[in-house]
Amino acid sequence: MREYSRLFIDGSWQVPSGRGLAEVIDPASETVAGRVPLGDEHDVNRAVAAARQAFADWSRSPSSVRATFIQALVAQLKMRAEEMASVITTELGMPVQWCRSVQVDGPIAGLEQYIELAGLMDEVREVGNSLVYREAVGVCAFINPWNYPLHQLIGKLAPALAAGCTVVVKPSQETPLHAFLLAEMIEAIGLPPGVFNLVSGPGAKVGEALARHPQVDMVSFTGSTGAGVRVAQAAAPTVKRVCLELGGKSPLLISADADLQAAVRYGVQDVMINSGQTCTALTRMLLPTSRYAEAVEIALAETRSLTMGDPLDPASFLGPMCSASQRRTVLDYVRVGQEEGARLLCGGQAPTDLERGFYVQPTLFADVDNRMRIAQEEIFGPVLCLIPYQDEAQAIALANDSPFGLSSAVWAADRQHAMALARQLRAGQCFLNGAAFNYQAPFGGYKQSGNGREWGEEGLAEFVEIKAVQL
Ligand code: NAD
Repeated sequence: MREYSRLFIDGSWQVPSGRGLAEVIDPASETVAGRVPLGDEHDVNRAVAAARQAFADWSRSPSSVRATFIQALVAQLKMRAEEMASVITTELGMPVQWCRSVQVDGPIAGLEQYIELAGLMDEVREVGNSLVYREAVGVCAFINPWNYPLHQLIGKLAPALAAGCTVVVKPSQETPLHAFLLAEMIEAIGLPPGVFNLVSGPGAKVGEALARHPQVDMVSFTGSTGAGVRVAQAAAPTVKRVCLELGGKSPLLISADADLQAAVRYGVQDVMINSGQTCTALTRMLLPTSRYAEAVEIALAETRSLTMGDPLDPASFLGPMCSASQRRTVLDYVRVGQEEGARLLCGGQAPTDLERGFYVQPTLFADVDNRMRIAQEEIFGPVLCLIPYQDEAQAIALANDSPFGLSSAVWAADRQHAMALARQLRAGQCFLNGAAFNYQAPFGGYKQSGNGREWGEEGLAEFVEIKAVQL
Protein backbone atom coordinates (compact mmCIF):
# COMPACT_ATOMS: atom_id res chain seq x y z
CA MET A 1 0.00 0.00 0.00
CA ARG A 2 1.48 3.35 -1.09
CA GLU A 3 -0.08 6.50 0.23
CA TYR A 4 1.00 9.94 -0.91
CA SER A 5 -0.73 12.92 0.68
CA ARG A 6 1.47 15.62 -0.87
CA LEU A 7 2.28 16.87 -4.34
CA PHE A 8 5.82 17.38 -5.63
CA ILE A 9 6.04 21.10 -6.47
CA ASP A 10 9.06 23.38 -6.66
CA GLY A 11 11.46 20.68 -5.47
CA SER A 12 9.59 19.64 -2.33
CA TRP A 13 6.55 17.67 -1.17
CA GLN A 14 3.81 20.25 -0.60
CA VAL A 15 0.40 20.04 1.03
CA PRO A 16 -2.18 20.19 -1.77
CA SER A 17 -4.87 22.81 -1.95
CA GLY A 18 -7.24 20.23 -3.46
CA ARG A 19 -9.09 18.27 -0.80
CA GLY A 20 -9.11 14.52 -0.36
CA LEU A 21 -7.24 11.54 -1.72
CA ALA A 22 -8.10 9.37 -4.72
CA GLU A 23 -7.90 5.60 -4.31
CA VAL A 24 -5.82 3.54 -6.71
CA ILE A 25 -7.35 0.11 -7.21
CA ASP A 26 -5.31 -3.03 -7.90
CA PRO A 27 -7.31 -4.47 -10.84
CA ALA A 28 -6.37 -8.07 -10.03
CA SER A 29 -7.44 -8.10 -6.36
CA GLU A 30 -9.94 -5.21 -6.55
CA THR A 31 -8.40 -3.85 -3.33
CA VAL A 32 -6.97 -0.40 -2.62
CA ALA A 33 -3.30 -0.34 -3.64
CA GLY A 34 -2.59 3.30 -2.89
CA ARG A 35 -3.87 6.83 -2.49
CA VAL A 36 -2.80 10.10 -4.10
CA PRO A 37 -3.98 13.71 -3.71
CA LEU A 38 -6.87 15.09 -5.69
CA GLY A 39 -5.14 18.25 -6.88
CA ASP A 40 -7.06 21.30 -8.04
CA GLU A 41 -6.58 24.49 -10.06
CA HIS A 42 -4.64 26.22 -7.26
CA ASP A 43 -2.17 23.34 -7.25
CA VAL A 44 -1.84 23.69 -11.02
CA ASN A 45 -1.16 27.42 -10.63
CA ARG A 46 1.53 26.81 -8.01
CA ALA A 47 3.20 24.11 -10.11
CA VAL A 48 3.14 26.23 -13.27
CA ALA A 49 4.55 29.23 -11.37
CA ALA A 50 7.40 27.07 -10.04
CA ALA A 51 8.10 25.73 -13.54
CA ARG A 52 8.04 29.26 -14.97
CA GLN A 53 10.43 30.50 -12.28
CA ALA A 54 12.86 27.62 -12.93
CA PHE A 55 12.80 27.96 -16.71
CA ALA A 56 15.27 30.81 -17.22
CA ASP A 57 18.19 29.13 -15.43
CA TRP A 58 17.42 25.59 -16.52
CA SER A 59 17.03 26.44 -20.21
CA ARG A 60 20.32 28.33 -20.16
CA SER A 61 22.23 25.60 -18.32
CA PRO A 62 24.90 23.82 -20.43
CA SER A 63 23.49 20.77 -22.22
CA SER A 64 26.21 18.70 -20.51
CA VAL A 65 24.72 19.60 -17.10
CA ARG A 66 21.26 18.53 -18.22
CA ALA A 67 22.76 15.31 -19.64
CA THR A 68 24.34 14.60 -16.25
CA PHE A 69 20.94 14.88 -14.54
CA ILE A 70 19.44 12.51 -17.13
CA GLN A 71 22.29 10.09 -16.45
CA ALA A 72 21.61 10.32 -12.71
CA LEU A 73 17.91 9.59 -13.31
CA VAL A 74 18.86 6.55 -15.40
CA ALA A 75 20.98 5.32 -12.46
CA GLN A 76 18.06 5.82 -10.02
CA LEU A 77 15.66 3.98 -12.29
CA LYS A 78 18.10 1.09 -12.70
CA MET A 79 18.58 0.91 -8.94
CA ARG A 80 14.83 0.90 -8.21
CA ALA A 81 13.69 -0.94 -11.35
CA GLU A 82 12.16 -3.89 -9.49
CA GLU A 83 10.22 -1.56 -7.22
CA MET A 84 8.97 0.42 -10.23
CA ALA A 85 7.92 -2.78 -12.02
CA SER A 86 6.07 -3.97 -8.94
CA VAL A 87 4.23 -0.64 -8.59
CA ILE A 88 3.15 -0.79 -12.24
CA THR A 89 2.01 -4.40 -11.96
CA THR A 90 -0.08 -3.41 -8.94
CA GLU A 91 -1.71 -0.30 -10.43
CA LEU A 92 -2.10 -1.55 -14.01
CA GLY A 93 -2.31 -5.33 -13.73
CA MET A 94 0.35 -6.15 -16.31
CA PRO A 95 1.81 -9.59 -15.53
CA VAL A 96 5.31 -9.85 -14.09
CA GLN A 97 6.29 -11.91 -17.14
CA TRP A 98 6.27 -8.65 -19.13
CA CYS A 99 6.19 -5.75 -16.72
CA ARG A 100 9.88 -5.30 -15.90
CA SER A 101 11.13 -5.50 -19.50
CA VAL A 102 8.29 -3.69 -21.27
CA GLN A 103 7.27 -1.11 -18.68
CA VAL A 104 10.61 -0.33 -17.03
CA ASP A 105 13.71 -1.53 -18.92
CA GLY A 106 12.37 -0.20 -22.25
CA PRO A 107 11.75 3.35 -20.95
CA ILE A 108 15.17 3.34 -19.25
CA ALA A 109 16.77 2.54 -22.64
CA GLY A 110 14.70 5.35 -24.17
CA LEU A 111 15.80 7.80 -21.45
CA GLU A 112 19.45 6.82 -21.83
CA GLN A 113 19.48 8.03 -25.45
CA TYR A 114 18.90 11.62 -24.40
CA ILE A 115 22.19 11.78 -22.49
CA GLU A 116 23.76 12.14 -25.91
CA LEU A 117 20.89 13.80 -27.76
CA ALA A 118 20.97 16.76 -25.32
CA GLY A 119 24.13 17.84 -27.17
CA LEU A 120 22.05 18.52 -30.31
CA MET A 121 20.78 21.65 -28.57
CA ASP A 122 24.23 23.20 -29.03
CA GLU A 123 24.28 22.79 -32.81
CA VAL A 124 24.02 26.02 -34.74
CA ARG A 125 23.17 26.06 -38.44
CA GLU A 126 24.45 28.77 -40.76
CA VAL A 127 22.17 29.77 -43.60
CA GLY A 128 22.96 32.85 -45.69
CA ASN A 129 23.39 35.77 -43.30
CA SER A 130 21.69 33.90 -40.42
CA LEU A 131 22.61 31.65 -37.56
CA VAL A 132 19.82 29.24 -36.60
CA TYR A 133 19.65 28.23 -32.93
CA ARG A 134 17.63 25.65 -31.05
CA GLU A 135 16.01 26.83 -27.82
CA ALA A 136 13.70 25.18 -25.31
CA VAL A 137 9.94 25.63 -25.84
CA GLY A 138 9.31 26.63 -22.21
CA VAL A 139 6.96 25.32 -19.53
CA CYS A 140 5.42 22.02 -20.66
CA ALA A 141 2.37 20.19 -19.31
CA PHE A 142 2.22 16.41 -19.68
CA ILE A 143 -1.15 14.67 -19.54
CA ASN A 144 -0.82 10.90 -19.62
CA PRO A 145 -2.91 7.70 -19.86
CA TRP A 146 -2.63 4.54 -17.80
CA ASN A 147 -1.61 1.78 -20.19
CA TYR A 148 2.21 2.18 -20.45
CA PRO A 149 2.57 4.74 -17.69
CA LEU A 150 6.34 5.09 -17.26
CA HIS A 151 6.99 4.72 -21.00
CA GLN A 152 4.60 7.60 -21.74
CA LEU A 153 6.04 9.79 -19.00
CA ILE A 154 9.68 9.20 -19.99
CA GLY A 155 8.83 9.66 -23.70
CA LYS A 156 7.98 13.27 -22.84
CA LEU A 157 10.25 13.96 -19.86
CA ALA A 158 13.52 12.76 -21.42
CA PRO A 159 13.49 15.10 -24.44
CA ALA A 160 12.00 17.96 -22.39
CA LEU A 161 14.89 17.81 -19.89
CA ALA A 162 17.41 17.46 -22.71
CA ALA A 163 15.98 20.52 -24.46
CA GLY A 164 15.92 22.64 -21.27
CA CYS A 165 12.15 22.72 -20.66
CA THR A 166 10.51 22.65 -17.25
CA VAL A 167 7.48 20.43 -16.72
CA VAL A 168 4.25 19.82 -14.85
CA VAL A 169 3.11 16.20 -14.98
CA LYS A 170 -0.47 15.00 -14.60
CA PRO A 171 -0.66 11.20 -14.54
CA SER A 172 -3.82 9.20 -15.15
CA GLN A 173 -6.12 8.64 -12.16
CA GLU A 174 -5.91 4.86 -12.68
CA THR A 175 -2.11 4.61 -12.52
CA PRO A 176 -0.55 7.59 -10.74
CA LEU A 177 1.74 5.71 -8.34
CA HIS A 178 4.66 5.26 -10.77
CA ALA A 179 4.81 9.07 -11.21
CA PHE A 180 5.10 9.59 -7.45
CA LEU A 181 7.89 7.02 -7.32
CA LEU A 182 9.60 8.86 -10.19
CA ALA A 183 9.24 12.15 -8.27
CA GLU A 184 11.08 10.50 -5.36
CA MET A 185 13.91 9.73 -7.79
CA ILE A 186 13.87 13.28 -9.15
CA GLU A 187 14.23 14.51 -5.57
CA ALA A 188 17.09 12.07 -4.96
CA ILE A 189 19.11 13.33 -7.95
CA GLY A 190 18.70 16.93 -6.82
CA LEU A 191 17.14 18.29 -10.00
CA PRO A 192 16.82 22.09 -9.53
CA PRO A 193 13.50 23.03 -7.85
CA GLY A 194 10.64 23.70 -10.26
CA VAL A 195 12.08 21.77 -13.21
CA PHE A 196 9.82 18.78 -12.48
CA ASN A 197 6.42 19.20 -10.80
CA LEU A 198 3.72 16.61 -10.22
CA VAL A 199 0.00 17.34 -9.79
CA SER A 200 -2.39 14.38 -9.68
CA GLY A 201 -6.15 14.70 -10.13
CA PRO A 202 -9.02 14.38 -12.59
CA GLY A 203 -8.51 15.17 -16.26
CA ALA A 204 -11.47 17.52 -16.51
CA LYS A 205 -10.08 19.62 -13.63
CA VAL A 206 -6.28 19.37 -13.45
CA GLY A 207 -5.74 18.40 -17.12
CA GLU A 208 -7.96 21.15 -18.52
CA ALA A 209 -6.47 23.76 -16.16
CA LEU A 210 -3.04 22.88 -17.52
CA ALA A 211 -4.19 22.95 -21.14
CA ARG A 212 -5.84 26.37 -20.64
CA HIS A 213 -3.07 27.94 -18.57
CA PRO A 214 -1.57 31.04 -20.22
CA GLN A 215 1.83 30.36 -18.60
CA VAL A 216 2.09 26.88 -20.13
CA ASP A 217 3.88 27.03 -23.48
CA MET A 218 3.21 23.50 -24.62
CA VAL A 219 0.92 20.64 -23.73
CA SER A 220 1.89 17.11 -24.65
CA PHE A 221 -1.08 14.79 -24.35
CA THR A 222 -1.29 11.03 -24.71
CA GLY A 223 -4.72 9.44 -24.45
CA SER A 224 -7.98 8.94 -26.26
CA THR A 225 -8.84 10.94 -29.36
CA GLY A 226 -11.92 12.47 -27.68
CA ALA A 227 -9.97 13.85 -24.70
CA GLY A 228 -7.16 14.95 -27.03
CA VAL A 229 -9.60 17.08 -29.03
CA ARG A 230 -10.84 18.71 -25.79
CA VAL A 231 -7.26 19.43 -24.73
CA ALA A 232 -6.53 21.03 -28.12
CA GLN A 233 -9.68 23.17 -27.82
CA ALA A 234 -8.78 24.28 -24.29
CA ALA A 235 -5.25 25.14 -25.45
CA ALA A 236 -6.27 27.03 -28.61
CA PRO A 237 -7.00 30.48 -27.11
CA THR A 238 -3.43 30.73 -25.78
CA VAL A 239 -1.90 29.43 -29.05
CA LYS A 240 0.35 27.02 -27.19
CA ARG A 241 2.02 24.12 -28.91
CA VAL A 242 -0.15 20.98 -28.66
CA CYS A 243 1.29 17.53 -29.25
CA LEU A 244 -1.25 14.75 -29.39
CA GLU A 245 -0.53 11.02 -29.17
CA LEU A 246 -3.93 9.36 -29.54
CA GLY A 247 -5.70 6.08 -30.20
CA GLY A 248 -5.31 3.46 -32.88
CA LYS A 249 -6.93 0.56 -34.73
CA SER A 250 -3.88 -0.81 -36.45
CA PRO A 251 -3.79 -3.40 -39.25
CA LEU A 252 -1.53 -6.42 -39.67
CA LEU A 253 -1.46 -7.25 -43.38
CA ILE A 254 -0.48 -10.88 -43.94
CA SER A 255 0.34 -11.66 -47.55
CA ALA A 256 -0.60 -14.91 -49.29
CA ASP A 257 3.02 -16.13 -49.37
CA ALA A 258 3.71 -15.44 -45.68
CA ASP A 259 4.80 -17.99 -43.09
CA LEU A 260 1.23 -18.16 -41.80
CA GLN A 261 2.00 -19.91 -38.53
CA ALA A 262 4.59 -17.28 -37.53
CA ALA A 263 2.58 -14.30 -38.79
CA VAL A 264 -0.72 -15.23 -37.14
CA ARG A 265 0.91 -16.19 -33.83
CA TYR A 266 2.74 -12.86 -33.80
CA GLY A 267 -0.50 -11.00 -34.52
CA VAL A 268 -2.41 -12.74 -31.72
CA GLN A 269 0.34 -12.15 -29.17
CA ASP A 270 0.73 -8.51 -30.20
CA VAL A 271 -2.93 -7.85 -29.38
CA MET A 272 -3.11 -9.90 -26.21
CA ILE A 273 -0.05 -8.43 -24.50
CA ASN A 274 -1.18 -5.96 -21.80
CA SER A 275 -4.66 -7.43 -22.38
CA GLY A 276 -5.11 -5.40 -25.56
CA GLN A 277 -4.60 -2.11 -23.74
CA THR A 278 -1.94 -0.97 -26.20
CA CYS A 279 -2.42 2.04 -28.47
CA THR A 280 -0.45 0.35 -31.27
CA ALA A 281 -2.17 -3.08 -30.94
CA LEU A 282 -2.60 -4.75 -34.34
CA THR A 283 -6.31 -5.35 -33.76
CA ARG A 284 -7.27 -5.84 -37.42
CA MET A 285 -5.66 -8.91 -38.98
CA LEU A 286 -6.05 -8.82 -42.78
CA LEU A 287 -5.90 -12.31 -44.26
CA PRO A 288 -5.96 -13.56 -47.89
CA THR A 289 -9.16 -15.53 -48.59
CA SER A 290 -7.02 -18.31 -50.10
CA ARG A 291 -5.53 -19.04 -46.65
CA TYR A 292 -8.26 -17.65 -44.43
CA ALA A 293 -9.60 -20.93 -42.99
CA GLU A 294 -6.08 -22.09 -42.13
CA ALA A 295 -5.30 -18.75 -40.46
CA VAL A 296 -8.48 -18.87 -38.37
CA GLU A 297 -7.44 -22.27 -36.99
CA ILE A 298 -3.94 -21.01 -36.10
CA ALA A 299 -5.36 -17.88 -34.42
CA LEU A 300 -7.79 -19.96 -32.40
CA ALA A 301 -5.12 -22.42 -31.25
CA GLU A 302 -2.74 -19.59 -30.33
CA THR A 303 -5.40 -17.62 -28.42
CA ARG A 304 -6.47 -20.70 -26.48
CA SER A 305 -2.86 -21.42 -25.53
CA LEU A 306 -2.39 -18.08 -23.74
CA THR A 307 -2.63 -18.20 -19.97
CA MET A 308 -4.71 -15.56 -18.25
CA GLY A 309 -4.49 -15.05 -14.51
CA ASP A 310 -2.92 -13.35 -11.52
CA PRO A 311 -0.34 -10.83 -12.77
CA LEU A 312 1.98 -11.97 -9.97
CA ASP A 313 2.05 -15.52 -11.37
CA PRO A 314 5.05 -15.73 -13.76
CA ALA A 315 3.01 -18.06 -16.00
CA SER A 316 0.34 -15.42 -16.76
CA PHE A 317 0.48 -13.95 -20.26
CA LEU A 318 -2.61 -11.80 -19.76
CA GLY A 319 -3.76 -10.04 -16.62
CA PRO A 320 -6.98 -8.12 -15.93
CA MET A 321 -8.26 -4.95 -17.58
CA CYS A 322 -6.96 -1.87 -15.77
CA SER A 323 -10.38 -0.97 -14.35
CA ALA A 324 -13.96 -2.15 -13.96
CA SER A 325 -15.09 0.50 -16.42
CA GLN A 326 -12.57 -0.70 -19.04
CA ARG A 327 -13.92 -4.23 -18.62
CA ARG A 328 -17.47 -2.93 -19.16
CA THR A 329 -16.38 -1.11 -22.32
CA VAL A 330 -14.76 -4.25 -23.74
CA LEU A 331 -17.73 -6.50 -22.94
CA ASP A 332 -20.07 -3.92 -24.53
CA TYR A 333 -18.01 -4.08 -27.73
CA VAL A 334 -18.22 -7.88 -27.74
CA ARG A 335 -22.02 -7.55 -27.71
CA VAL A 336 -21.84 -4.93 -30.50
CA GLY A 337 -19.67 -7.26 -32.60
CA GLN A 338 -22.16 -10.10 -32.22
CA GLU A 339 -25.08 -7.82 -33.11
CA GLU A 340 -23.20 -6.65 -36.19
CA GLY A 341 -22.89 -10.25 -37.36
CA ALA A 342 -19.22 -11.00 -36.69
CA ARG A 343 -18.50 -14.63 -35.71
CA LEU A 344 -17.31 -14.95 -32.10
CA LEU A 345 -14.71 -17.73 -32.15
CA CYS A 346 -13.65 -17.66 -28.51
CA GLY A 347 -13.64 -15.56 -25.35
CA GLY A 348 -15.92 -12.57 -25.09
CA GLN A 349 -16.69 -12.98 -21.39
CA ALA A 350 -15.30 -12.54 -17.93
CA PRO A 351 -13.68 -15.89 -16.95
CA THR A 352 -15.60 -18.07 -14.53
CA ASP A 353 -12.53 -19.50 -12.76
CA LEU A 354 -11.18 -16.19 -11.39
CA GLU A 355 -13.17 -14.92 -8.42
CA ARG A 356 -11.82 -11.40 -8.36
CA GLY A 357 -10.27 -9.02 -10.85
CA PHE A 358 -11.45 -7.15 -13.95
CA TYR A 359 -10.60 -9.96 -16.38
CA VAL A 360 -11.91 -10.47 -19.92
CA GLN A 361 -11.05 -13.67 -21.79
CA PRO A 362 -8.92 -13.25 -24.92
CA THR A 363 -11.45 -12.83 -27.70
CA LEU A 364 -11.41 -13.58 -31.43
CA PHE A 365 -13.93 -12.39 -33.99
CA ALA A 366 -13.88 -13.96 -37.48
CA ASP A 367 -15.64 -12.81 -40.68
CA VAL A 368 -15.39 -9.17 -39.63
CA ASP A 369 -16.41 -6.54 -42.16
CA ASN A 370 -14.03 -3.58 -41.91
CA ARG A 371 -17.01 -1.19 -41.80
CA MET A 372 -18.29 -2.76 -38.56
CA ARG A 373 -17.87 -0.70 -35.38
CA ILE A 374 -15.60 -3.37 -33.87
CA ALA A 375 -13.20 -2.79 -36.80
CA GLN A 376 -13.47 1.00 -36.86
CA GLU A 377 -13.44 1.93 -33.15
CA GLU A 378 -10.71 1.40 -30.60
CA ILE A 379 -11.86 -1.26 -28.12
CA PHE A 380 -8.75 -1.26 -25.93
CA GLY A 381 -9.15 -4.83 -24.79
CA PRO A 382 -8.05 -8.36 -25.77
CA VAL A 383 -10.20 -8.46 -28.92
CA LEU A 384 -8.79 -9.34 -32.34
CA CYS A 385 -10.77 -8.97 -35.59
CA LEU A 386 -9.97 -11.35 -38.48
CA ILE A 387 -10.80 -9.70 -41.81
CA PRO A 388 -10.55 -11.52 -45.16
CA TYR A 389 -9.31 -9.81 -48.36
CA GLN A 390 -9.37 -10.84 -52.04
CA ASP A 391 -6.19 -9.21 -53.34
CA GLU A 392 -3.48 -6.86 -52.10
CA ALA A 393 -5.08 -3.75 -53.56
CA GLN A 394 -8.14 -4.49 -51.45
CA ALA A 395 -5.95 -5.28 -48.43
CA ILE A 396 -4.26 -1.86 -48.66
CA ALA A 397 -7.64 -0.15 -49.05
CA LEU A 398 -9.01 -1.98 -45.98
CA ALA A 399 -5.89 -1.24 -43.94
CA ASN A 400 -6.20 2.47 -44.70
CA ASP A 401 -9.98 2.59 -44.24
CA SER A 402 -9.73 3.80 -40.64
CA PRO A 403 -9.93 7.14 -38.88
CA PHE A 404 -6.66 6.17 -37.17
CA GLY A 405 -3.09 5.80 -38.42
CA LEU A 406 -0.89 5.03 -35.43
CA SER A 407 0.80 1.76 -36.33
CA SER A 408 0.71 -1.07 -38.87
CA ALA A 409 2.51 -4.27 -39.72
CA VAL A 410 3.17 -6.43 -42.76
CA TRP A 411 4.18 -10.05 -42.95
CA ALA A 412 5.36 -11.34 -46.35
CA ALA A 413 7.85 -13.93 -47.58
CA ASP A 414 9.96 -11.37 -49.40
CA ARG A 415 11.41 -8.26 -47.66
CA GLN A 416 11.09 -6.04 -50.77
CA HIS A 417 7.48 -7.04 -51.23
CA ALA A 418 6.81 -6.32 -47.54
CA MET A 419 8.48 -2.93 -47.90
CA ALA A 420 6.38 -2.06 -50.96
CA LEU A 421 3.24 -2.81 -48.95
CA ALA A 422 4.52 -0.90 -45.91
CA ARG A 423 5.03 2.27 -47.94
CA GLN A 424 1.36 2.25 -48.93
CA LEU A 425 0.03 2.14 -45.36
CA ARG A 426 -1.04 5.48 -43.88
CA ALA A 427 0.44 5.09 -40.40
CA GLY A 428 3.31 6.52 -38.39
CA GLN A 429 5.09 3.20 -38.16
CA CYS A 430 5.14 -0.23 -39.74
CA PHE A 431 6.64 -3.45 -38.39
CA LEU A 432 7.91 -5.88 -41.02
CA ASN A 433 7.84 -9.61 -40.28
CA GLY A 434 7.74 -9.23 -36.50
CA ALA A 435 10.47 -6.59 -36.12
CA ALA A 436 11.12 -5.08 -32.69
CA PHE A 437 10.14 -1.67 -31.28
CA ASN A 438 13.00 0.83 -31.64
CA TYR A 439 13.46 3.60 -29.06
CA GLN A 440 15.75 5.51 -31.44
CA ALA A 441 13.04 5.79 -34.09
CA PRO A 442 10.27 8.42 -34.07
CA PHE A 443 6.89 7.27 -32.79
CA GLY A 444 3.54 8.94 -33.52
CA GLY A 445 0.36 8.84 -35.53
CA TYR A 446 -1.16 9.90 -38.83
CA LYS A 447 -4.79 11.04 -39.11
CA GLN A 448 -6.78 10.97 -35.84
CA SER A 449 -3.97 9.10 -34.06
CA GLY A 450 -2.23 12.40 -33.40
CA ASN A 451 0.17 15.01 -34.65
CA GLY A 452 3.33 14.54 -32.61
CA ARG A 453 6.43 12.37 -32.58
CA GLU A 454 8.12 10.95 -29.52
CA TRP A 455 11.55 9.29 -28.99
CA GLY A 456 14.75 9.82 -30.90
CA GLU A 457 15.76 13.09 -32.55
CA GLU A 458 12.20 13.87 -33.64
CA GLY A 459 11.11 13.51 -30.01
CA LEU A 460 13.61 16.21 -29.05
CA ALA A 461 12.38 18.46 -31.87
CA GLU A 462 8.93 18.58 -30.23
CA PHE A 463 10.43 20.55 -27.33
CA VAL A 464 12.48 22.95 -29.44
CA GLU A 465 11.83 26.47 -30.67
CA ILE A 466 13.92 27.66 -33.61
CA LYS A 467 15.51 31.10 -33.56
CA ALA A 468 17.13 32.77 -36.58
CA VAL A 469 19.65 35.48 -35.79
CA GLN A 470 20.44 37.67 -38.80
CA LEU A 471 24.01 38.97 -39.01
P1 NAD B 1 -8.07 9.27 -21.63
O1 NAD B 1 -8.15 10.12 -22.84
O2 NAD B 1 -9.33 8.93 -20.93
O3 NAD B 1 -7.15 9.97 -20.52
C1 NAD B 1 -5.82 10.34 -20.79
C2 NAD B 1 -5.42 11.45 -19.83
O4 NAD B 1 -6.17 12.61 -20.15
C3 NAD B 1 -5.72 11.14 -18.36
O5 NAD B 1 -4.69 11.66 -17.56
C4 NAD B 1 -7.01 11.91 -18.11
O6 NAD B 1 -7.17 12.28 -16.77
C5 NAD B 1 -6.81 13.13 -18.99
N1 NAD B 1 -8.02 13.80 -19.44
C6 NAD B 1 -9.23 13.25 -19.69
N2 NAD B 1 -10.09 14.20 -20.09
C7 NAD B 1 -9.40 15.37 -20.12
C8 NAD B 1 -9.74 16.71 -20.47
N3 NAD B 1 -10.97 17.05 -20.86
N4 NAD B 1 -8.78 17.65 -20.38
C9 NAD B 1 -7.53 17.33 -19.99
N5 NAD B 1 -7.16 16.09 -19.64
C10 NAD B 1 -8.09 15.11 -19.71
O7 NAD B 1 -7.26 7.97 -22.06
P2 NAD B 1 -6.95 6.67 -21.18
O8 NAD B 1 -8.21 5.87 -21.08
O9 NAD B 1 -6.23 7.05 -19.95
O10 NAD B 1 -5.90 5.92 -22.13
C11 NAD B 1 -6.24 5.14 -23.20
C12 NAD B 1 -6.14 5.90 -24.51
O11 NAD B 1 -4.82 6.40 -24.69
C13 NAD B 1 -6.39 5.03 -25.72
O12 NAD B 1 -7.18 5.72 -26.63
C14 NAD B 1 -4.99 4.78 -26.29
O13 NAD B 1 -4.95 4.47 -27.65
C15 NAD B 1 -4.36 6.10 -26.01
N6 NAD B 1 -2.90 5.97 -26.04
C16 NAD B 1 -2.19 6.53 -27.07
C17 NAD B 1 -0.81 6.39 -27.13
C18 NAD B 1 0.01 7.01 -28.22
O14 NAD B 1 1.22 7.16 -28.03
N7 NAD B 1 -0.55 7.38 -29.35
C19 NAD B 1 -0.15 5.67 -26.13
C20 NAD B 1 -0.91 5.12 -25.10
C21 NAD B 1 -2.28 5.28 -25.06
